[in-house]
Amino acid sequence: MDTRESPRLPANSSPLRLTVMRTVAVMILAAVIAAVLHVQIGQYHNTLWYDVAVALGAAAIIAPIFLYPTYMTAHRLRQANATILRQARRDNLTGLPNYFALSQEIRDRLASDRSEHGLAVHFLDLDHFKHVNDSLGHDFGNDLLVNVAQCLNAALSGRAFVARFAGDEFVVVQPVAGSVAEAKDLVAVIRQAAARDYHLHGRQVHVDLTIGTAIAPFHAGTPDGLLKAAELALYHAKKCGLTAAVYTPELSRDVERMRELEAALPAALDLAQFFVLYQPIVDARQTARITSVEALLRWRMPDGTLISPAEFVPAAERTGTIIAIGEWVLAEACRQCAGWPRGITVSVNVSPVQFFRSDIVATVRRVLGETGLPARRLTLEITETALISDTRLLEPILGDLRAMGVRLALDDFGAGFCGLNYLRLVDIDKLKVDKTIVDQAFYDRKSFSVLKGVAEIARGNHICIVTEGIDDPRKEQLVCENRIADELQGYLYHHPMHAEDLPRVLNPLRAADERRRRRAAAAPGLALH
Ligand code: C2E
Ligand code: MG
Ligand code: MG
Repeated sequence: MDTRESPRLPANSSPLRLTVMRTVAVMILAAVIAAVLHVQIGQYHNTLWYDVAVALGAAAIIAPIFLYPTYMTAHRLRQANATILRQARRDNLTGLPNYFALSQEIRDRLASDRSEHGLAVHFLDLDHFKHVNDSLGHDFGNDLLVNVAQCLNAALSGRAFVARFAGDEFVVVQPVAGSVAEAKDLVAVIRQAAARDYHLHGRQVHVDLTIGTAIAPFHAGTPDGLLKAAELALYHAKKCGLTAAVYTPELSRDVERMRELEAALPAALDLAQFFVLYQPIVDARQTARITSVEALLRWRMPDGTLISPAEFVPAAERTGTIIAIGEWVLAEACRQCAGWPRGITVSVNVSPVQFFRSDIVATVRRVLGETGLPARRLTLEITETALISDTRLLEPILGDLRAMGVRLALDDFGAGFCGLNYLRLVDIDKLKVDKTIVDQAFYDRKSFSVLKGVAEIARGNHICIVTEGIDDPRKEQLVCENRIADELQGYLYHHPMHAEDLPRVLNPLRAADERRRRRAAAAPGLALH
């Protein structure tokens, strides 16, 4: 379908004005003809009815000649309107129905008799499409979207209605007999059709997608409600690292909870509801030796409940309050670290929002100046999300921080999409391997080989490797015997603790006691491959 066809409107596009003008012209002409006829032959048939008949007869003969252009104009207008309407319902890039056509389709199907059979709405999102756009260019990204649209259309035509929602998001509407299994079957068909390798402009890219599903009438009864429910299911799937998820009412409660947190966050800093815990990180060759400490933020609500940063940091990022909160954590951690033995460094987690929406370089410089902590004793932990967002924007910021003497760590490595090529793009000092990867390597040989390979590459680039989540002596054995880690972090050594408890573990003799106690308490029960 040629979606670039543009409607051509006639020069004079007011049909009412045209019709009135032409009708008046016909009437005047008919009157003139009637008058002439009256003069010529009226002496023989001098009656009013004769005049009227003659006038009407003349008008009838002449009217089509005059009204024909009016008819043609109206016809062309109708065609142009139809084209405009068609285009208003089509997505320009892919030619698929767009959001308006989609809502109309869902509304019509819900209203029709078929609605009693149920309607599944599948919300599709291409994984890491932004990364494709950033690295291969927008034209490539557009062509990829067109290809994905074609694959979806070909696989689903006759079975479901496919629309492009926005950007890299598509929606599939499927009539179902009311069973979730039927909807799940189609999810498998969608994935089979679109989640695959694409060959474009001499390149091969792999596309994966995440799908959220909502079913009417169980989950919602309006187009907006269904789309929102399916989108929530999609976000839930993404958050949990799943390829697909079906909506449940708890997801709406999660959103409600997120809104509550967002509303309470701005005042929390002023009300001193935040505090920082510190988790020691140890030397892999000598686990009694603490090399550094990670600052981990906590939020205590007025009723005493503790909220995990994993829950409130995303809310703070969404509202931007993470900038003020992050500054406070940085100042607090640097102030504490300045009082610890000189060999101990502190790691502070920094949100991508702080990098992109605040002057992090100026903030770090000011905080180091105010607390007197040497820059080399501060490590900033950045996540892969920051790198994926915009490496080009990030590069000069990271360069300024390193020039200042601050160290950089790439956090949660392996938990998401982070590829090894990021090690090439940005200069980092530490690689923090996520707990999930360590856990997988413990059970699965393939993951173990990947982890070992990553460690070798990092070591070859003089990057220190920290493995997180070491909470079992056999995990320690696995990473130490295979020389995977330089430093270790986990409950096996130390839980996050209050600043006032740190001197106890920073003292080596006390630390050895503590370690022996923890080892004895660690329960066996996991099988090493
Ligand atoms: P992270 O930076 O990867 O921090 C490590 C998390 O793993 C911490 O969870 C820590 O308590 C936990 N952990 C450490 N050892 C073990 C172990 O052996 N087993 C298990 N199961 N967990 C272990 P926490 O404190 O809940 O922090 C979660 C995440 O929240 C952090 O992950 C970090 O991404 C974020 N976060 C924490 N504090 C801040 C902050 O001040 N700013 C920002 N932007 N994010 C923060
Ligand atoms: Mg961290
Ligand atoms: Mg981490």
